[in-house]
Parts: sequence; C-alpha cells; structure tokens
Amino acid sequence: MAKAHKLDCESADADCRFIIQSENETEAIELARDHMKDVHGKEVTDEELQEEHLQVV
Ligand SMILES: [Zn+2]
Repeated sequence: MAKAHKLDCESADADCRFIIQSENETEAIELARDHMKDVHGKEVTDEELQEEHLQVV
C-alpha cells in the first residue's frame, strides 16, 4: 500500500477536527497550509508542516 501523508489538525489545535490525508505530499502540504491560514489565521511554512504536523501513515 502506498504511503499517505496525513495532517491531523487536532494535534495542533484541540478544537479542530480537520484531517487531511493524501498520497501526494505536495498536495497534502498545500491543503494543510491553506487550512492553517484560512481557519486558524496562522502562516505556516512548508518546512514547519513537514517537520511538525505531517505524519506518514
Ligand atoms: Zn484546523
């Protein structure tokens, strides 16, 4: 089975149930970055997302 890149926003913000899961890392990062900005008003860099938020499952 292919690896998927997953962002579970609950780990970043306890009130948010947003989950992204994609086999395409670039897409997962883009979706996560947009979500962080639109919903949480946070500017998060790709590196921060990769290192701190994205899990490989
Ligand atoms: Zn969120």
